[in-house]
Amino acid sequence: MECREKRLSSKRTHQNKERANESAECRAGRLAKQREYDQTKGLNVCNSSTIADEIRKFHTAVSSGPLYICTCCDQLWYKHSVTTAKKLRISNPDIVKYLLSKASVDDVEWICQSCFRYLRKNKIPPYAAKNGMLFPLKPDFFYLNELEC
Ligand SMILES: [Zn+2]
Repeated sequence: MECREKRLSSKRTHQNKERANESAECRAGRLAKQREYDQTKGLNVCNSSTIADEIRKFHTAVSSGPLYICTCCDQLWYKHSVTTAKKLRISNPDIVKYLLSKASVDDVEWICQSCFRYLRKNKIPPYAAKNGMLFPLKPDFFYLNELEC
């Protein structure tokens, strides 16, 4: 086992030295060969997704709108930016004082990734409503739709 590690380590060192001195043409050729090999082996090549794929992914991610209310900072978020507060409540019972117990989509209490990171370490999130970062009340003479609101 040790022999194998030594051999692989010396091979890597040798490869790194060779690659440091190779020309741009050699490098392009080597990478093209590697890509071809990866594709024949069915490996996931990182630059195989096209711009159209990425645009499709973005549209899927934002299709349901920012409807998820963070129970800590009271801001609206997209689905991919929130997680349920249930596990956090169980694992860190001390943080309950920073939560507003607000449920939104599917009647679930959501928490944003930012607040989640602070609360997991038992720290108060800078944008927490309990940190004085409340939204001002909307005056009655503002006739706003849901998005404007
Ligand atoms: Zn939050």
